[in-house]
Amino acid sequence: MKSFCGIGLYCKISIGPSVARCGLQRRGQRGQVADVGAEAPGREAILGQLCGERIDSLLAACNQRNAEAFGTEPAGDCRAEPRAGSHDCHRRHDRSPRHRRLGVVRDQPYASRRTSLGSVRIAVVGAGVVGMSAAAALLDDIRDVTCYESGAIMGERSVGSTRIFRLAHVDPDLVRLAQRAREGFDRWAKDAGRPMLVGSECVITGSDMADRAAALAKVGADYELVGAGSGRLHLPVVEEPAAALVDVGGGVVDVDAVRDFLTARAGATVVRDRVYALDITASGTAAVTSDRGKAEYDALVLAAGANTSHLAAQVGIYTPPMLAHHVRLTFRIAGDGWQSWIDKPPGGIGTYQHQAGPGLWAMGGHVDPSLTAWEVGRDAAIEASRKALLDYARTRLTVDPTIVESVYCTTVPNIGDGVEFRRNGPVLAVYGGNLMKLAPALGAAAGGAVVDGSTP
Ligand SMILES: Cc1cc2nc3c(=O)[nH]c(=O)nc-3n(C[C@H](O)[C@H](O)[C@H](O)COP(=O)(O)OP(=O)(O)OC[C@H]3O[C@@H](n4cnc5c(N)ncnc54)[C@H](O)[C@@H]3O)c2cc1C
Repeated sequence: MKSFCGIGLYCKISIGPSVARCGLQRRGQRGQVADVGAEAPGREAILGQLCGERIDSLLAACNQRNAEAFGTEPAGDCRAEPRAGSHDCHRRHDRSPRHRRLGVVRDQPYASRRTSLGSVRIAVVGAGVVGMSAAAALLDDIRDVTCYESGAIMGERSVGSTRIFRLAHVDPDLVRLAQRAREGFDRWAKDAGRPMLVGSECVITGSDMADRAAALAKVGADYELVGAGSGRLHLPVVEEPAAALVDVGGGVVDVDAVRDFLTARAGATVVRDRVYALDITASGTAAVTSDRGKAEYDALVLAAGANTSHLAAQVGIYTPPMLAHHVRLTFRIAGDGWQSWIDKPPGGIGTYQHQAGPGLWAMGGHVDPSLTAWEVGRDAAIEASRKALLDYARTRLTVDPTIVESVYCTTVPNIGDGVEFRRNGPVLAVYGGNLMKLAPALGAAAGGAVVDGSTP
């Protein structure tokens, strides 16, 4: 179906063989798509559910929100015109896209209705590392914080014991953000009486090494460029890289320490409860519908990992809905004090690798995307990834190539490094890739912004 209304919103339903996604988008503004991301078992359910009342109510809500957001009255209603596979409505307006990598969508500030922080109620959806960091930051000023979590704290994309920490990014803004995150980890370590980072350094090799070196230099971060045989590299490789960048401030995040700290700090805010729906009420509050019923909050941080897109779409915020499968394997390794390593060869498999504890070496890789696409299915993607990673470990590394642990998660394809914040009214959504290393800075940014109504 296709429809055009004169009111600045673009709505689209694309129907795949087994999954439907439906979105509302301001035409011409990259990234300004509200995707309800609904998944339905078949076409009839999709068309009945999404093209009928779902779309009508979404359009009505979006028209209203658009009018509020742009300070204009809706110029007309959406009208449905049949067209295979999509439903569009469109309105011209002059707002330029305020969208850039990292930091990101600078929507107009949300005029906070609050006058006293003491009476503010804030919800966080998702107790991954981002949601927990936000809840921890919020507790500095706010008493009434509720964090909804359907599973275990940091049990989805934040699962496991270790991640790579690095300052080395291609974007200097991300280097600065990682510097702030490191300061945050240091503060947490001081509070916890336990280190959060292992300062083992991070080696960068491959195609974007020069760009990362340039970004580090721009920010004034410590790094070294070295060649093979320099004695500076300590990697479990059969053949040492011919050239490498050593990110001196890089290393490993002790995720167990982070989880323990955040649970002690903000665990009391967590309610074991699945969120089914989000809405923005007529009075401008954020309404959360969960297993426990419906509750209203003055503001809400949405950090639901793989479910962020689906929930964000319900309140008119677009985040990328695509998912892919990803696997990280852990092998046994002799020796100690290994540097973390990011390798992006011009051809072949790009990998990230690090010491994941005494005698353990973890590695993940960006295998052929056609093998890990969502449609391939979890089992087949895991099988293909394990084969590719095992082949790599057997031929390129000096580890014992017996798998002692396998971590599976979903990722957003091609997102790489980066974080984006998007706001509609009282709801601030955050999403991105490789967020563990940035967690303290993201928590502080989200916690501050959700209270003052800005978008980081
Ligand atoms: C194998 C692997 C390796 C990685 N390597 C690195 C690395 O080296 N360095 C790095 O910095 N990052 C790395 N990352 C990425 C990093 O771990 C993630 O970006 C980060 O943990 C994401 O945190 P999050 O809070 O956004 O998401 P999550 O941890 O997924 O948290 C979202 C939470 O929301 C909950 N939730 C979802 N829907 C609902 C709902 N409807 N109601 C209630 N709760 C809900 C989920 O249960 C989940 O707990 C890696 C990730 C993986 C999996």
